[in-house]
Amino acid sequence: MSDTIGHWSDGKTFAGSSTSTAPVSNPATGVTTGQVALANGQDAQAVIDAAAAALPAWRDLSLTRRTAILFRFRELLNERKAELAQIITREHGKVLSDALGEISRGQEVVEFACGIPHLVKGGYTENASTGVDAFSIRQPLGVVGIISPFNFPAMVPMWFFPIAIAAGNTVVLKPSEKDPSASLWLAELWSEAGLPPGVFNVLQGDKTAVDALLESPIVRAVSFVGSTPIARYVYSRAAEHGKRVQALGGAKNHAVVLPDADLELAADAMVNAGFGSAGQRCMSISVVVAVGSVADDLVAKIAQRAQSLEVGDGTKDADMGPLVTRQHRDRVASYIDAGEAAGAKVVVDGRLVAVQDRTDGFWLGPTLLDHVRPGMSVYDDEIFGPVLSVVRVDTYEQALALINANPYGNGTAIFTSDGGAARRFQTEVEVGMVGINVPIPVPMAYYSFGGWKNSLFGDTHAHGMEGVHFFTRGKAVTARWADPSRRGLDLGFPSNH
Ligand code: NAD
Repeated sequence: MSDTIGHWSDGKTFAGSSTSTAPVSNPATGVTTGQVALANGQDAQAVIDAAAAALPAWRDLSLTRRTAILFRFRELLNERKAELAQIITREHGKVLSDALGEISRGQEVVEFACGIPHLVKGGYTENASTGVDAFSIRQPLGVVGIISPFNFPAMVPMWFFPIAIAAGNTVVLKPSEKDPSASLWLAELWSEAGLPPGVFNVLQGDKTAVDALLESPIVRAVSFVGSTPIARYVYSRAAEHGKRVQALGGAKNHAVVLPDADLELAADAMVNAGFGSAGQRCMSISVVVAVGSVADDLVAKIAQRAQSLEVGDGTKDADMGPLVTRQHRDRVASYIDAGEAAGAKVVVDGRLVAVQDRTDGFWLGPTLLDHVRPGMSVYDDEIFGPVLSVVRVDTYEQALALINANPYGNGTAIFTSDGGAARRFQTEVEVGMVGINVPIPVPMAYYSFGGWKNSLFGDTHAHGMEGVHFFTRGKAVTARWADPSRRGLDLGFPSNH
């Protein structure tokens, strides 16, 4: 028995006319649990039209009434997040505590968006000229598209839609076809919170659905998160069609461990950030840069911890779950093969892992590779799996040069007890998000999330004030009210006096 997973449009489920579907699996069992609809152009148009129809009334609703709905959504989410975590684990594979963690980080953006009346306040200048006032306002864009990846089926959409909706836009979310059910649960929750039909819609699909959003003249802005090649494509295609676009791409996050670091803390951090969610986080640490004398000790400490992790079904108290699909599992394993063949030393080998009673799951255990070097595919490519590569260097300068030469620039971290070295790193490193003795420096909701270089196309990061600016546009008004004393013709250029 497998479910059909459809779209959500105009406040209800929508089957669409396309007969094309893709299988959705439980990665821990390997069983196909559903078939997700893949929209055709007509289906996409119907969902976009629903968002357009809901726009005028939503845009004009008072901020007080909009925020009341946001507060209700936040309360419902908080009460019922365990249900959502089950859905995430069933389709993504991550352990339940991790699924709950991603929901909490998304919820923080909902809480931030509850402050929208303050966030969209403009400025007011009295008597900019005599009897003339000047002020600024921020207005919603219209219908906006959100295209999200498989690895955070709740959090990544929540980086965007709370702010987009709070600011008066209507939304079409195109989730990943690998784990599409979380978005439908969120859509139902919005309905329960009192959001009018058509303000939040879900369009299931693949490239056809994405292209429909990128090309539609109704869609005014696109927020994308996914791999770098698709981010680059979305950025240029959306811009070509005159849209505002932020496209967040892939990552290869390095953590530098200096000789004066607390090695126990650093080893814990490498394991947590390398193997959490089976390495399928855009902020996972995938490269440990061991500086000077720390390498042997650090590798031993990471290996000992990695070997203690229990791999298994995410609903059953495991430390680490499976990879999202069999194909992805095999691809990650092939990078370990290639690294070994190129001369890296396999210190902990995740290819050997077996999980009792779950022989058909997409398993790959924590893997630690030492003596990795640039030029090996395991170093050069984003792998997106539970593989930590250790690169040994002699100096801080070499570590910095390695990171700055990398085409990605999403997250990075430094482990040290020297404040001066940490401060130098935060200034010199060419990466968008930096951790100091913090391995996964995901910014709080009131700051903005985004990488540099090939990790983000566009100039606006997600959530925080940059998110508010992305989903609104500014208008400056200059006003003079009738004042009989200032009548008369004057063709000179307006000047301030
Ligand atoms: P992906 O690029 O394969 O897919 C992302 C979205 O694009 C999905 O909705 C998918 O349906 C759509 N898509 C896929 N192929 C397409 C095509 N040819 N044309 C148009 N649309 C297409 O990414 P994924 O595998 O789902 O997610 C993992 C990737 O996302 C990793 O590279 C990871 O680093 C990245 N990611 C980045 C961040 C960040 O903040 N920078 C956050 C999370 C994930």
